[in-house]
Amino acid sequence: MSPWYMLAVPIGAALGAGGALTNRVHTWDERLLWVLGGSLGAAPASYLYAALAGTGPLGGLAIYAATGILGVTLPPRLDARTRRDLWALSAVVKWLRSPLTTTFGVAAAIACRARGRPVDFQAGMIFVPAGKGASVLALGAVGWAQHGRFAGGCVARPLACHEAVHSRTVAAIGELGFYFTYVLVGAPWAVIQGADWNNLSRDGLGNPFEKTAHTFTGDPPVAVEARRRRLPA
Ligand SMILES: [Zn+2]
Repeated sequence: MSPWYMLAVPIGAALGAGGALTNRVHTWDERLLWVLGGSLGAAPASYLYAALAGTGPLGGLAIYAATGILGVTLPPRLDARTRRDLWALSAVVKWLRSPLTTTFGVAAAIACRARGRPVDFQAGMIFVPAGKGASVLALGAVGWAQHGRFAGGCVARPLACHEAVHSRTVAAIGELGFYFTYVLVGAPWAVIQGADWNNLSRDGLGNPFEKTAHTFTGDPPVAVEARRRRLPA
C-alpha cells in the first residue's frame, strides 16, 4: 500500500468526525457514517482532484484535506445566517468539495434562468426546478426540487435547511464519499430498519444520514425531540 493512501483514510475519517461535530450530529450511527464516508471517499476524491489539478495523488490528497478543512468549518456558520453573500461563500466551499455534482447543477441553474424559470438560493444551496412530483434531491450545493416543493419559485425554509445538511455533509467528506456511503451503507441500513432507503420511519429509524436533516423538517416528530436534546434552551 502506498504511503499517500495510508494517509488518505485517517484524513478522511478526521474530516468526517470534525464535520459531525461542527454540524451537531447527535446520534452514534450518523456520526459513524460521516467517519466511514470520509474514510472511503478520501482516496477516490484525491485521484479526482489530482486529475483536475494536473498533479499527483499526494497533491490531490493535499487539495482534498485543505478544502475539507474549509468544508468542516465554514458552511455550518455561514448557512445559519440569512445573508446571501455569506451563503454564496458557503456555496463556493461546497462546490470545491463536489466539483462533479455542483458543476452539473450550476449548469442546469444557468439554463433555467436563461429560459426565464425561477431558481432559488437559500442556506448556501441553489435550488432548481426538477419536473412534476414532490421530491427533493441534494447533489452537492444544488437541490433538485420537484414542482410540489417549489411553490412560488422557492422552497420552504425548513426544507432548504434539511437539504443544506446534506450539502454540508458533502462539504465535510466530499461528494464521492457521501454518495457512495449514502447508497451502499445508509440505504440498506434504512431498509433493514423498515424505512424507505432515503428516509426515516415514524419511530425515527432509517438512513442515518437523514437524522440531523430531519430535525429541520420535523418529520417524524422524534427527530425534533432529538434536536431538543442536543440544543438545550
Ligand atoms: Zn434528506
